[in-house]
Amino acid sequence: MSNNEGFDGMLSDRLADTTPYPLGLTVERAEGIHLHLADGRKLMDLISGVGVTIWGHGHPEILAAIHAQVDQHLHAMVYGEFRQSAQIQAAHNLLSLMPEGLDAVYFVNSGAEAIEGAMKLARRVTGRRRFFGVQGGYHGNTTGALSISSNEARKAAFRPLLPEIGFLRWNEPNDLSAIDESVAGVVVETVQGDAGVRIPDADWIQALEARCREVGALLILDEIQAGMGRTGRPFAFMHFGVTPDICVLGKALGGGMPIGAFVSSAERMHLLSHQPKLGHITTFGGHPVACAASAVSTRLLAEVDWAGIERLGALMELKLRAMKHVRAVRRLGYFVAVELDSAERVQGAVDRGLASGLLIFYFLSVPHAFRLAPPLTLTEPELHDAMEKLASVLESC
Ligand code: PLP
Repeated sequence: MSNNEGFDGMLSDRLADTTPYPLGLTVERAEGIHLHLADGRKLMDLISGVGVTIWGHGHPEILAAIHAQVDQHLHAMVYGEFRQSAQIQAAHNLLSLMPEGLDAVYFVNSGAEAIEGAMKLARRVTGRRRFFGVQGGYHGNTTGALSISSNEARKAAFRPLLPEIGFLRWNEPNDLSAIDESVAGVVVETVQGDAGVRIPDADWIQALEARCREVGALLILDEIQAGMGRTGRPFAFMHFGVTPDICVLGKALGGGMPIGAFVSSAERMHLLSHQPKLGHITTFGGHPVACAASAVSTRLLAEVDWAGIERLGALMELKLRAMKHVRAVRRLGYFVAVELDSAERVQGAVDRGLASGLLIFYFLSVPHAFRLAPPLTLTEPELHDAMEKLASVLESC
């Protein structure tokens, strides 16, 4: 029985829907790369819950840490008052992967909240108000995060949003001179996800970093999707020879539990404790169960064989490029966009994929492409199986 019976296109009669066309599948169990559905079907999850389950579903060490923390304690106090061992361990593991100067973390509930926190911190540090985003950028759906995102079709109904925000063109060095001494920060995805896995020119992102330093604006890298191993390095900025002033994280940081974070220097972060004190308040931020899972997620990140990831990533790309209807493949690590010849073809591929036991998914802003974001635990036989199924899906759509 489908879970939307009697309510065409809705998740249920009471559960708010966000799209007229939800997939509406009922997951009963999930393990490794597979989702097991209530109707008995098994789906290979090639998108990791949209960039979250980087260690696959139900990684045993993550589950063990969650169980242990549940037995110890759940929520004990709002963020920032008590010393909680799960938070301390999660911070230690995360910061040991970060470059010098990024030595303090603020744990929050989600990616969007982390963007809000990062923007507030940039204003507090610089005493300035203006921000730049980048065309094609996606940063979440709270008001500040939406303001700095660029897709106007997703913003118009919710205006007025934050004032004093401009947009730079992606990979366009001529725009960088617009960043001046009045700018608090520039918010940019290190690799743009929703824009269809757009990879920056190293020269451009290095020039962006240099311009920010020159005028005292903070470089805020949104690594909510691109971070945590997705691009084949622990953090995407490590490919390009740049270091953010604030690094924003979410999604895979919690290994399947909800958490976000912004990371900066202890000196800057200290400013949130006064004028006003409690400069960012969050009740559930850094929830101990989410932090216990996160501590494992970041520990696993320290142990990845990156050469092995690149070998399988390159193999995947080679196979994708040979498939019918494929016009372009953009890939960094396991962060992949596959462009087809039309949006209708993408729709057909998603539908036929589901019928063939494969979960692939759309981009919000690029209708003629679909995303792949498999877990880092993907095995070579799983990769061959997935690519064989996908090739036959694309043959028939
Ligand atoms: N930034 C990027 C690059 C994202 O991909 C997302 C979510 O897809 C967000 C921010 C917002 O994160 P959340 O949905 O956890 O608020």
